[in-house]
Amino acid sequence: MASESLPTRQRRPSMGAPIVDIQGSVGPAGISRPKHKRTFTGFGAGEIKSVEASIPEPQREAWLKHQVSGFKDKDGFESEVVRHVETTLARSMFNCDESAAYSACSLAFRDRLILEWNRTQQRQTFVDSKRLYYLSLEFLMGRALDNAMLNIGQKDTAKAGLADLGFRIEDVIEQEHDAALGNGGLGRLAACFLDSLASLNYPAWGYGLRYRYGIFKQEIIDGYQVEVPDYWLDFNPWEFPRHDVTVDIQFFGHVRKSTDENGRTVAHWEGGEIVKAVAYDVPIPGYATPSTNNLRLWSSTAASGEFDFQKFNNGDYESSVADQQRAETISAVLYPNDNLERGKELRLKQQYFWVAASLYDIVRRFKKSKRPWKEFPEQVAIQLNDTHPTLAVVELQRILLDLEGLEWDEAWNIVTNTFGYTNHTVLPEALEKWSVPLIQHLLPRHLQIIYDINLYFLQSVERRFPEERDLLGRVSIIEESQPKMVRMAHLAIVGSHKVNGVAELHSDLIKTTIFKDFVTIFGPDKFTNVTNGITPRRWLHQANPRLSELISSKTGGKDFLTDLNELNKIELYVKDKAFRKAWADIKLANKERLAKHIKASAGVTVDPTALFDVQVKRIHEYKRQQLNIFGVIHRYLTLKAMSPEERKKQQPRVSIFGGKAAPGYWMAKQIIHLINSVGKVVNNDEDIGDLLKVVFLEDYNVSKAEIIIPASDISEHISTAGTEASGTSNMKFVLNGGLIIGTCDGANIEITREIGENNIFLFGNLAEDVEDLRHAHTYGTHEIDPDLNRVFQEIEKGTFGSTQDFAALISAVRDHGDYYLVSDDFHSYIETQALVDDAYRNQEEWITKCITSVARMGFFSSDRCINEYAEGIWNIEPLRVEKEEGA
Ligand SMILES: *Cc1c(COP(=O)(O)O)cnc(C)c1O
Repeated sequence: MASESLPTRQRRPSMGAPIVDIQGSVGPAGISRPKHKRTFTGFGAGEIKSVEASIPEPQREAWLKHQVSGFKDKDGFESEVVRHVETTLARSMFNCDESAAYSACSLAFRDRLILEWNRTQQRQTFVDSKRLYYLSLEFLMGRALDNAMLNIGQKDTAKAGLADLGFRIEDVIEQEHDAALGNGGLGRLAACFLDSLASLNYPAWGYGLRYRYGIFKQEIIDGYQVEVPDYWLDFNPWEFPRHDVTVDIQFFGHVRKSTDENGRTVAHWEGGEIVKAVAYDVPIPGYATPSTNNLRLWSSTAASGEFDFQKFNNGDYESSVADQQRAETISAVLYPNDNLERGKELRLKQQYFWVAASLYDIVRRFKKSKRPWKEFPEQVAIQLNDTHPTLAVVELQRILLDLEGLEWDEAWNIVTNTFGYTNHTVLPEALEKWSVPLIQHLLPRHLQIIYDINLYFLQSVERRFPEERDLLGRVSIIEESQPKMVRMAHLAIVGSHKVNGVAELHSDLIKTTIFKDFVTIFGPDKFTNVTNGITPRRWLHQANPRLSELISSKTGGKDFLTDLNELNKIELYVKDKAFRKAWADIKLANKERLAKHIKASAGVTVDPTALFDVQVKRIHEYKRQQLNIFGVIHRYLTLKAMSPEERKKQQPRVSIFGGKAAPGYWMAKQIIHLINSVGKVVNNDEDIGDLLKVVFLEDYNVSKAEIIIPASDISEHISTAGTEASGTSNMKFVLNGGLIIGTCDGANIEITREIGENNIFLFGNLAEDVEDLRHAHTYGTHEIDPDLNRVFQEIEKGTFGSTQDFAALISAVRDHGDYYLVSDDFHSYIETQALVDDAYRNQEEWITKCITSVARMGFFSSDRCINEYAEGIWNIEPLRVEKEEGA
C-alpha cells in the first residue's frame, strides 16, 4: 500500500553494514569481528564510507557480496519466513502453527532491524556526537512485532505474505507475550520516549534491568485478584545476549584509605562480593527512519571467579549453585509497587547493580574517545527517570575520584553537568529514602561520598543563608531520624543541573511544596516543566489503524504521525457528513471488538451501542476507582428506584474497569473485589438489563490497552486534585476519539487548555483547596455526602455480598478522614456523569466534540516532549543515518 511505503526503508540495506569493532557498535552476537581495531574520532558527517574503506581488501569483496540484505518485498518476506521455520526453528512448514509463524515472522523482521541498528550505532560512533542515556528501572514496552512492522513500513507486505502462507496477521501478532518490565505510567513513558528518540534520530540509549519476571499476570478468581508469575522470556526474539559485554559489580566490603605519592588521600573499596552483569540488547526502531537505537538491559549472574571453581572442585556443588542463584536473584523480579517505596535491601541492590553496570559502560565508551574528562558532559547526558537511579550520581563521583584520580571539585562539576532528574510524584509514600545503616553495609564507599556531597552542599547553603538555621535540616540529604535516612530526591536535585516535573500543575507543585527550599537555594531556573507525551505511532497508528487511515486520508498522508500538529487539519472536516459517518463507524467497530473481548475474558455480554465508560490504570486510592464504583452503585440504585417507563429513557452504559493492584496493597485489592461484586449483582438484575453493565477486565497491560482505549466513549481520570503528576492514558483516550471525565489534575488541565473546556467533563475540588478540606475532615466539620451515605448503607445491607469485606473502604471515607476526598467530590462527580449521559444522547454534538478534540491533541506527542528535553536539558542534536547508496 502506497501510504505505508517508506522509501528509505525499502532500499537495499546499507553498504555500511559490515561489523566493525568500534565502541558502541552492536554487531550480532556470535559473528566474529575483524581483528584490526581503529580509534575513530572526530570524523565529520558524510565520512561514514570510510568504514568500508577500512576493511582489508581480501575480506572486503566477500563481505560485501554476502551481506545480509533482509527482505525487499512480499516474496522476499515469505522466503525469509520459510527459511526461519525450516532452519532456525527446525520445523517443517506442514507443521507450522501460529506460534511458529510468529517466531519466524519476528526473526525475519529482526534481521531487517539488526542491519539498521548496526548502521545507526556505527554512525553515532564515527560522528562521536553527544548521546543521551535514559536510566529507567522500568520499560513497559508491550509487543514488539507489530511496532517493528509499522515502523519499518512493511506491515502490508507481511500481511500479504502471511496470508499466502495461510495465516491472519492479527493471529500471528497475538502470539507475542508483552514485554511488561514496568508497573504503569512511568514505565510506559520510558517506552514512548525510546520510540520518539529513535524516530527523531537522536543518539540515545536506554538502560534498564532485564527482569526474569516482569509485572505479575493478574487473574480474577471469585472476584479477587490473584497474582501469577509472568514468564515472558520463554521465547524472546527481540533481545540479543552480549556475553562479551559484562561488568563485575561489587557489594559489601570495606574502605581502606592510603596516601599517594602526592600526599593525596585515596580510598580503596575492598572485599565483599562480586556479581556479574551481562548485557542484553533490544533494538528500538524509529518510525520512517533507518535510525535504530539500543535498549541495554542488564541481567545478573554469578561472577565465575576461581573461588567458585575451587568450591566446585572440592565437591561443594550445592554451594556453588546457591551462589549462582543468589546472584541471579538481583535481576529476577520487578517490584510490583506503583507510587510506593518500601526500603527492601534487594531493591537497593538492584538499583546499584543496574546503575554501576550502566555507568561502567558509558564511561568505557567515553574513554575510548581519548577526550579529556572535562568534556564528559559535552558527550554524555544522563537522565534519571525518578529517583530510582540516583546512586548513579554517587557512582560517577566515585569513579572520577577514586579510579580516575580527579579532584573533588572538578569531578563534582562533571557530575552535576551530566545529570538531569525527572520527578514523578509528590505522594509522600512514594518518595525514596534508604536507611544509612543499609547503605553503609551494602555500599560503604558510597555512603562516605554521600556524606561528603552533603557536607559541601550544606556548607555552601550555610554560607549563603547564615540566618536560616532550620533550612539546613530541611534540605539535608540525610534525614536525622532513627535510623538516619538518605533522601534520594535531595541527592538527585543536588547532583543534577536540571529538575523537571511532568505536567504544569505538577511542576508548579514541586516548586512550591516538596522542593520549595531548593528553589530558594538554586534559583528557579534549575526547575522546569516538560509535560508528558505519548507516541502516536503506537497509540494511534498501531492501536487504531482505521482511525489512522481515516485521518491520513484527510491530512494528506502520514505526516501527522511524525508531526502530530498536522492533526488540526481534520477540524476542517468536522461538518463533513461522510467523514463523520466514517468516524462513527470506526468507533462502533472498535467497540464491537472490545465487546467480543469482554465476552471472551469476563463472560459478560455488552451492547456495543451503549456508552462505554472506561477506567483502566493501576488501582490506587489516589486514582479513586472507589469513587467510580460508588458512583456506579449510585446509578444502580437510581435505576432500581425508577418505574419501567422512566428507565426506558435512560442512557445505557457499560462501566469497564481494569488495572493491577500491588500484591501487598490490601485496600486496592478490596476495591477490585467490590467492583467484581457489584458486577455480579448488576449484570444479573433483570430490571436493569442493558442499562448498566459492570465489567472488570483482568490483566490490564499494553496490548490490552491497545484494544480497550480505541473503544472508549468516556474515560475516567479522577484522581484527587494534586496527586496525579501527569497521567498519560488521558492523552491516549482523547487521541483515540474518546472524551474524558476528570478532575483538575495533572495533564487534564493542559488537555483542557488545548481541546477547549466544552470538550471535557471536569468536576471536583481544586488542588489549592485540598489541604483545607482534609483539615475539615480531621476536625469534624465535614458531613458525608447524603447520596454517598445511601451507597454505603446499601453495601452495608449486604446487597453486594459479605459486608465485612468492604467495611474498610467505607470507613476510610467515613471514619478515617477521607484523605482522598471521595465524599467532597461525590456530588460533583454524579452531576457531571449525568451531563455525560445527556451529551452522549446528542450523538451529533458528541461526535463534533470527539473530532475537535483529536484535532487539537498535537501537543501531547512524545516527540514534542523529547524535543523539549533535547533542547532544554540534554543539549543533544539529531543525527540522521545516511540513506543507502545504489539502491
Ligand atoms: C498508559 C498506560 C498506563 C498509565 O495510565 P494512567 O492512567 O496515566 O495512570 C498504565 N498502564 C498501561 C498499560 C498504559 O499503557
